[in-house]
Amino acid sequence: MTSATLRPASDYPPGGDAFRHRHLIGIAQLTPWEISYVLDAAEHWVDLNRSGAAKHDDALAGLTIINAFFENSTRTLLSFEIAGKRLGADVVNMHAAQSSVKKGETLIDTAMTLNAMRADAMVIRHHSSGAVQLIADKVDCPVLNAGDGRHEHPTQALLDALTIRRRLGRVEGLTIAICGDVLHSRVARSNILALTLLGNEVRIVAPPTLTPPAIDRMHVTTFTDMDEGIKDADVVMMLRLQNERMDGAYLPSAREYHALYGLTPTRLEKARPDAIVMHPGPMNRGVEIDSSVADDPVRSTITEQVEMGVAVRMACLDILTRRKRKVAGWA
Ligand code: ASP
Repeated sequence: MTSATLRPASDYPPGGDAFRHRHLIGIAQLTPWEISYVLDAAEHWVDLNRSGAAKHDDALAGLTIINAFFENSTRTLLSFEIAGKRLGADVVNMHAAQSSVKKGETLIDTAMTLNAMRADAMVIRHHSSGAVQLIADKVDCPVLNAGDGRHEHPTQALLDALTIRRRLGRVEGLTIAICGDVLHSRVARSNILALTLLGNEVRIVAPPTLTPPAIDRMHVTTFTDMDEGIKDADVVMMLRLQNERMDGAYLPSAREYHALYGLTPTRLEKARPDAIVMHPGPMNRGVEIDSSVADDPVRSTITEQVEMGVAVRMACLDILTRRKRKVAGWA
């Protein structure tokens, strides 16, 4: 896909209905145009968050957002909570570990319980691929996927695209290497979908055991050699080894993995001199990434990704609740 398929923000459909989805389940449902729309909307929230204003906005005042997390999270949960609060919503967090899920309640029963509380939006993270769609099909409010199994993590891909666009001035026509445990990574899947859709060359760099079998259908080039895979890349995106999803022996040892696939300063020299380094977190320092690279103030975008996460999630919550709030132009 070329940049010609990308529409400028000024060219969105009339009436403001540039994002026609009730839920945000995955990047797979979005057009390049809708991705650009969210990124443009997020820019406004970046500026506001940076302004240090004590009061952010009250666009979502009176609305209740439930963050239901059936799997652990630091960045995603906190940034959705901060995003909702900065928009004036009442935000309630449900941690599965302290809920009736532990007593054997089914996913659907939990979803129906949350629905009965008349939330205005739900943000769901679940360890099973497809679980968030299942809940979205049952409830009356917009549902945002905060990561489901190995399937998708759409707000991560959107915040990554925003970070790239702000750092490199564009998010099209770039060479982007996604490196590490691609097999178990919903971040990789959502990023592959978003970045190829926006017209970038996406390379997958992973050991054969951590390369998904169906990768050929995803319009990427695959590499098993890290030095070759990151050669002349504009963006090097590192992934964590997701040991919690591994049900067998995928690697000889963390030390050997680091020797072959760890991002060291020497290895990073293979990428373009101005290449940026990304990581969705949490990082395993000394395994997939060296501290000197992760903490490089010029090359690493890791803390900026976290910052963009709040802005992107504010944009998503704002956009998806507009119908409910009957914002002019939204049917
Ligand atoms: N935080 C990301 C996720 O939830 C990446 C990771 O866990 O490694 O998928």
